[in-house]
Amino acid sequence: MRDLFGLTQLLLAVLIFVPFERLFAARPQRIFRRGLLTDMAFLFINAGLVLAGVIAIMTAAILVNQSILPAAATQAIGDLPYLVQVPLVILIADLGVYWTHRILHVVPAMWQIHSVHHAVEELDWLAAIHQHPLDVMFMKAGALFPLYALGFSTEAIGTYLLVYYWQAWLVHANVRLNYGPLRHVLVSPEFHHWHHSSETAARDKNFAGLFSFYDVLFGSAYLPKGQDPKAFGVDHPMPSSYLALLAYPFVAWTSKRKRDDPSAIQPLSQGGEPAQPRQGAPLS
Ligand SMILES: [Zn+2]
Ligand SMILES: [Zn+2]
Repeated sequence: MRDLFGLTQLLLAVLIFVPFERLFAARPQRIFRRGLLTDMAFLFINAGLVLAGVIAIMTAAILVNQSILPAAATQAIGDLPYLVQVPLVILIADLGVYWTHRILHVVPAMWQIHSVHHAVEELDWLAAIHQHPLDVMFMKAGALFPLYALGFSTEAIGTYLLVYYWQAWLVHANVRLNYGPLRHVLVSPEFHHWHHSSETAARDKNFAGLFSFYDVLFGSAYLPKGQDPKAFGVDHPMPSSYLALLAYPFVAWTSKRKRDDPSAIQPLSQGGEPAQPRQGAPLS
């Protein structure tokens, strides 16, 4: 159990998802595809960068738990049986993921961060880790802050993290899998593949991580029957190396400030053009 989120689990994911994608491929794709080395860098370097952010989120949440919320309420939540806590934790965390994810799409400065995840053009299970560390921190904050603040047990939160870990690999996997009548209840690979589609109709849709009914509820579900996304990626050039992707939001923010300043001369960007602010989805 000590290596739950470490190499053993990763090796298990390789053993499951590599053959799974060969057997049920949605699109023909090579295992050693373009961008694999960059994904490896995301996998092994991001974790350290994200850890500090996660510790800060947990500390702030525990502070809120102990100094703002009534002790009787947080105590009562923490005392609930594990089997009652787990579904509550998953529902609350995914609501947090939904709105954090939607904000990452709608606010232009946040989109510069999140577009690193959407830069993937050959979608497969490893796209799950193709995320800017700041993106991971925001998503973790959205999911974990309410859980720690409300006083849920570490066992229940750990179960959610385990479920989400495997769900993230699964929904990005290059497999043809829809959930039939449950397609508007649970997030399937089909549902999340549409989230990555570069087609205009699919843009800023399908934000949930686990429960697609949140998208139905908030009017952002997009799941056309009998169709597959034709292409993935974003509509502006993105760099391809890990370091350039790490720098990407900062370069984009700086370039935008300079663009907005009429006295400044527009420099040539490095490692890809900064993103143009785009129209986000309406928040309704
Ligand atoms: Zn997204
Ligand atoms: Zn994704």
